[in-house]
Amino acid sequence: MFVALGSNLADPVAQLAAACDEIGRLPQTRLLGRSSLWRSAPVGYLDQPDFVNAVAEVDTTLEPEALLEQLLEIERRHGRVREFANAPRTLDLDIALYGERRIDTPTLTVPHPRMHERAFVLLPLHELAPDLSIPGHGPLRDLLPGVADQRLEVMPS
Ligand code: ADP
Ligand code: MG
Repeated sequence: MFVALGSNLADPVAQLAAACDEIGRLPQTRLLGRSSLWRSAPVGYLDQPDFVNAVAEVDTTLEPEALLEQLLEIERRHGRVREFANAPRTLDLDIALYGERRIDTPTLTVPHPRMHERAFVLLPLHELAPDLSIPGHGPLRDLLPGVADQRLEVMPS
């Protein structure tokens, strides 16, 4: 499965590096890989710093709801405060994909409902798994032209 990470406060690069370590240390979970770091312009609420985004590939036997709880706990440890939609954040961890599964509960929607229209999820995901298909949306590579207008740059590593 794939976790999408984002941060635009309090040293985003360090936030994402630490978050990947913490994800890899979750119970029943292994970090398989991480994309490059990508810098993206904010969406929705524009008067805030650029974001740094990445996608991590994880192997876990945690059920999706349990994985979400663990990810929200990591966000809390990073001082995440939920102020308003699209607000600046120290750390955002979303379950982008959980295998082929489609989940729709009050607390969890997988695939993440907006990932197919967000370059900052699709491009890092494409680095890790170019042949992937998104349940309900088809091949990842066919979604890339639709987000080509979004400003995004890979950060030097
Ligand atoms: P966003 O990531 O859309 O900016 P938040 O990070 O504030 O919003 O998430 C709010 C809620 O979204 C979480 O508490 C969680 O219950 C819900 N949610 C629904 N689907 C997902 C998903 N795939 N990954 C992460 N959170 C999700
Ligand atoms: Mg989130």
